[in-house]
Amino acid sequence: MTPLEQIISNDIRTNGPMTVSQYMAMCLFHPNHGYYTQSTVFGRGGDFITAPEISQMFGELVGLALAQAWIDAGQPSPSTLLELGPGRGTLMADILRATKRIPGFHAAITITLCEASPKLRDIQQQTLVGYDVTWITDLTQLDDAPLFCVANEFFDALPIRQFQRDGSHWHERTVGLQQDALCFGLSKSPTDLPQLMARLNDTSQGDIVEICQQAVTICDQIGQVINAQGGLALIFDYGDWRSLGETLQAVQNHAYCDPLQTPGQADITAQVDFEALAQATPSAYSRVTPQGVWLERLGITARAQTLARGLSGDALDHHIQAHRRLTHPDEMGTLFKVMALFPKTAKHPVGFEP
Ligand code: SAH
Repeated sequence: MTPLEQIISNDIRTNGPMTVSQYMAMCLFHPNHGYYTQSTVFGRGGDFITAPEISQMFGELVGLALAQAWIDAGQPSPSTLLELGPGRGTLMADILRATKRIPGFHAAITITLCEASPKLRDIQQQTLVGYDVTWITDLTQLDDAPLFCVANEFFDALPIRQFQRDGSHWHERTVGLQQDALCFGLSKSPTDLPQLMARLNDTSQGDIVEICQQAVTICDQIGQVINAQGGLALIFDYGDWRSLGETLQAVQNHAYCDPLQTPGQADITAQVDFEALAQATPSAYSRVTPQGVWLERLGITARAQTLARGLSGDALDHHIQAHRRLTHPDEMGTLFKVMALFPKTAKHPVGFEP
């Protein structure tokens, strides 16, 4: 039994079953035993690998897209360059390297990282040594300035609530105990939130719907700044338009595992409901676009060919594999999507032209 499993079990014995959201929050952010609070490695040597850790090309193209939006907005200074949930800081390092030669961009931006884990903040500081970086934990701390923002696999880490339909009511899914082992259950009394009642039209008996309130709040906050001050947010994640079904997933050592096993030692995520994000933002939003399509539109193949010229042997093989992994429909190309938030008065950002 992991130390966190002991803590969660005791909590359930005292207070009764907890919501899936409370369980997920404890697994990821318990102050001493949470996955992100204690985890100092993810990436190649850790439990899962993300797009920026696969290849520098991902961050380079994100950087150029954000800088293009800054140029299109009239090169506002000061502007905020924000990353939500920066992990090891690799994506921000690639963004900054790729945009170094864009006249005036680095001088105009305040580099801001929103990170909840003190340990990951230390790693980001090491990755970004030499840059002047501001860390925040809450978006109310954002400057009142045009906002150029990226989030990669951030929204999937925010705790979700799950509800199961029974007739015309919804019961919240919980985590309880059965013979001292963690198990899923359902709350006895219904929780008929307005968002759930609206889903009676497109669901059937027994269906599960997921709601991520924190994602809604964050999208509203960044969308407000972008709409009022200008800017762009690029949100990359796995998921689709409108959540249906149970999508909670745990990964340990690059393999799926039971989300109720080894709490605190596996990464727990859920698919992102891009429709909920679009409804939450007061700004304009783009179509939800497959990551592979967006990267191709930004010219990843030309960039891959340029980088390939300097490589041979294993390094070249890895590079070709990385290109495929980021873009191919059988890999991350279709499963992962990107959606942009931009001012209602601005044209569509690069890669999202209608
Ligand atoms: N973007 C990185 C890491 C993704 S993992 C990459 O692509 O490699 C999720 C990241 O979000 C971690 O850095 C985690 O600590 C952070 N995070 C999760 N929930 C958060 C919250 N509520 N506030 C700030 N950071 C959060």
